[in-house]
Amino acid sequence: MKRRELFQTLAATAVGVNLMGREVLDGAAASPAPRKAPAFTTRIRRLELRHTWTTTMSSSSYRDTLHTQFDRDGITGYGEGAGIVRYQQSALGGQKALEGLLPQISAADPFCYEKLLKELDRQLPGQRAALAAVDLALMDWLGKRLGVPVYRLFGLDPKDTAVTNMSIGIDTPEITRQKVREAEDFPVLKVKVGLATDEATIDAVRSVTKKPLRVDANEGWTSKEEAARKINWLESQGVQLIEQPLPAHLVEETRWIRNHVHIPIFADEACHSAEDIPKLREAFDGIVVKLDKSGGLIEALRQIHVARALGMKVMLGCMVSSSCTVTAAAHLSPLVDYADLDGHLLIGNDPYQGVTVQKGKLILTDAPGLGLRLMPDAKN
Ligand code: MG
Repeated sequence: MKRRELFQTLAATAVGVNLMGREVLDGAAASPAPRKAPAFTTRIRRLELRHTWTTTMSSSSYRDTLHTQFDRDGITGYGEGAGIVRYQQSALGGQKALEGLLPQISAADPFCYEKLLKELDRQLPGQRAALAAVDLALMDWLGKRLGVPVYRLFGLDPKDTAVTNMSIGIDTPEITRQKVREAEDFPVLKVKVGLATDEATIDAVRSVTKKPLRVDANEGWTSKEEAARKINWLESQGVQLIEQPLPAHLVEETRWIRNHVHIPIFADEACHSAEDIPKLREAFDGIVVKLDKSGGLIEALRQIHVARALGMKVMLGCMVSSSCTVTAAAHLSPLVDYADLDGHLLIGNDPYQGVTVQKGKLILTDAPGLGLRLMPDAKN
């Protein structure tokens, strides 16, 4: 082959390769269905409770929670927010608050989630549970997009997940005993108190089990003297810690209690954001972090780090929720001292399968994102 012919052949081959390559690219762009625009959607699901759930705040046989779905690039991220009655939140209120923001969320770059969540926090005053529903769907989507479980995004080892207690809501002594028997597999129980029936409740629990107990008064006691007396009695009954003995604003009175009891006192209703934590340091030994209270995983992580920096303990809790929220919280649980992540176990129609519990230990899989599976009958 002459030199000139060789160049002509090479040129033709190069064009052919280019044409072929172009053909493939054009074919890829032309043949599959056109890519859908990103979409962020919401719906409300009614979660049926196994037992009527009573605390000092409310009593109900079901809970409505706000569910979100983020579809982008053929990947779906799931989220949930359980509005907290204490802060005048509801699933419907959260859904309405998000309604006008859905185009903004759909169009945002999910990898810039810090910016988006900060903007939404400003645009959703008083709607932290709705914010959590957005945060969870974004983090589930990101994990799936990157092919890693969310705990790996946070640098955590799933072997270190916490052991959760099982919660026993306020009830008659007979039903309390039944609930304690049903919680046989759990090594620790958390008992709701805060009423005149507290001693009878603890007596009912103790008539069935000797397990360590945690107690949540949900702001139910009204005076510091009454609270200190009850806490010291509870200590004699094998109670490890007490949550929110007095109304949230009585921080100084709680500091007084702390000087008159031995077991740790945790702030739940008194602690909403990372900025709250420093002023609680003198009155409380630890804080309760909940995704619905913080506004999702990213703010919860910030609260955990702030509490740690101040030498405080951390309990990770939840509202009555599906496996979506509880699984998301379980991904953070390697960072905390105590877990109260049983909200999904209180309901009878969980739309998701996610974290499992074996003798209280939270078990996560290596599935990407939050690792949730939407149950077939929950798809419609
Ligand atoms: Mg609590």
